[in-house]
Amino acid sequence: LGRHRDDQRQSGFTYNGVEFSQNNLNLFAGLCAVDTQEHVEIMMRELSAQGQHCTRMGAYKPRTNPYSFQGHGKSCLPWVFETAGKHDIRVIAMEITHESHIEEIDECLEKLGRPTGVMLQVGTRNTQNFELLKAIGRQKTYPVLLKRGFGITLNESLNAAEYLASEGNANVVFCLRGMKTDAGSPHRNMVDFAHVPTVKRLTRMPVCIDPSHSVGSRDAAPDGIPDVMHATAQGVVAGANMVLVDFHPRPEKALVDGPQALLMEELPAYLEDVNQCHQLW
Ligand code: PEP
Repeated sequence: LGRHRDDQRQSGFTYNGVEFSQNNLNLFAGLCAVDTQEHVEIMMRELSAQGQHCTRMGAYKPRTNPYSFQGHGKSCLPWVFETAGKHDIRVIAMEITHESHIEEIDECLEKLGRPTGVMLQVGTRNTQNFELLKAIGRQKTYPVLLKRGFGITLNESLNAAEYLASEGNANVVFCLRGMKTDAGSPHRNMVDFAHVPTVKRLTRMPVCIDPSHSVGSRDAAPDGIPDVMHATAQGVVAGANMVLVDFHPRPEKALVDGPQALLMEELPAYLEDVNQCHQLW
């Protein structure tokens, strides 16, 4: 992935008609976790109405508490993929926590005639799950979104990305999602979006930001703008190539991370702000 500065190979790739590179920007707004068919339908319909072709949808959820909702798993894949196809959603970022999930996703997409595409997401808890990384790296059908590990150095996280590439899959987007800290940050994690240009300098990977898991709440600044939007603006102005962000039609009913989800009615203004920040590149 270009850890060596003299490596001149081209960055980026195209998947299912969507280009991922260090020079453009894709928005992946969506549900942190798939819950009801109605919410998936509302989300995808609204994204499509706003001219969006990508989303985030968690079917396999890695939870800190074993008694918390763990995601619908493979049972929701058929209706999630069919709804995506209906609304011309071309890429869904979907976390997997075990290599068997690759086959579950692949079998389902194949059976349905591939109505949409999937970007396999590796969450922050699995950034150094080397056997999972190797298994994902061995397949070349699906691109990968690798989250930065929340408690390891940037360099260690970039090495994790090399595990994917060393097994053959270099279609990797690297995602900053904040760092754990006991330094008293009012946010769930310490926002680390100043590293966007750093990762672009050190590697060829497009860089994603996840303001929702960084900030962890819908709290707003005195200007009325949610901290999630402020963090997004910082990351996009810094040159982010992808934004992974939680929205929900009814955050109070969300089964995972409802308090950090922005409201659907905030989506048009959010898109407008992202576009304006992107112009500042
Ligand atoms: C997520 O994006 O759904 C998620 C769990 O993120 P992270 O791995 O960054 O905590």
